[in-house]
Amino acid sequence: VRLDGLKPIRYGIKLDGELTVDHIKKQLSILSSLSIEQIGFFDVTHPSSLRRHTLMDYNQTKIKQLNVRDFVAYELPLTKSTDNNNSSSIPFIIAIHRRLEHPDRYLSPLTRQKILFFGQPIIIAYDENESTKITNKSIYENVSKQLERLLRKNTDLSYVSNHALDCDDSLGERYPFILKHVTEEGKKCSICPWNRFCTGCSFESNTNEFLRTRGNLAIEWESSAYYLRYLSGREQDVEIHPSVKSSRTLNKNDANTDEPSSIITLEDCLQSFTNWENLENKEMFNCKRCKKLQPADKKLDIWKLPPCLKFSDKVLHVVEK
Ligand SMILES: [Zn+2]
Ligand SMILES: [Zn+2]
Repeated sequence: VRLDGLKPIRYGIKLDGELTVDHIKKQLSILSSLSIEQIGFFDVTHPSSLRRHTLMDYNQTKIKQLNVRDFVAYELPLTKSTDNNNSSSIPFIIAIHRRLEHPDRYLSPLTRQKILFFGQPIIIAYDENESTKITNKSIYENVSKQLERLLRKNTDLSYVSNHALDCDDSLGERYPFILKHVTEEGKKCSICPWNRFCTGCSFESNTNEFLRTRGNLAIEWESSAYYLRYLSGREQDVEIHPSVKSSRTLNKNDANTDEPSSIITLEDCLQSFTNWENLENKEMFNCKRCKKLQPADKKLDIWKLPPCLKFSDKVLHVVEK
């Protein structure tokens, strides 16, 4: 996952369980042309947090000890400072997606809203040692740039008046989310004392200096904006680097050589199931009128749906020799 917000890239690295994670880092560094310091491994199993993958951070971990599906490599911003005393400051902020659901009735201020986390957190470069002031506006722009590929284009351009484009104060309205200061677990405000029951102080996209707290940022979506604009399916969409194929074909005995290189949705399957098929050669159609095999077109369609439709994965793939 890169800081520029472009589609994440999937690389293929051939692994041997006896090697250490050091090997993965070196290979990934070569493939991605990022330095090892610019690559961070994070646990992405919970959308409410983004934690460093401790097994990956320890170079001597053997590859066989890992569950490779649990983590993702993020590009990390490089610190511009040469001051080694300040190496404890992390040059980025973690931003997590959340939305609030309002139940009809509520009992106490704490149960008033239900916070739902979703999606994959992002990393926002933030260097404390930067000489130029980091504004709220630049934080919004950074988040927005990284989420661009996940947003459904707003075709209704009429509502973006000239005023909104010229006036800094109204710029915030252009984003389908609000940014809030939250604690690491994402549910509480990182500024207010706990007894205020604040779920996060928001800030607008303006030229004020961004206030860095020790917590994370929440990218909060209003329900309508979430349903209308956020395309969750695109999050898993990745660019396949040629190394994926070459790392698989190296091993001839690997049953996965024919594995499709990108994610296939159920929709894709249904689409392919209902495609027009050309019946030629061996599959030719036996015409009753001329009593001959004739080429024909065939199409399957679902006309009526049962109350419950069951789909099962076809695990095996037949390869003609
Ligand atoms: Zn607050
Ligand atoms: Zn015929």
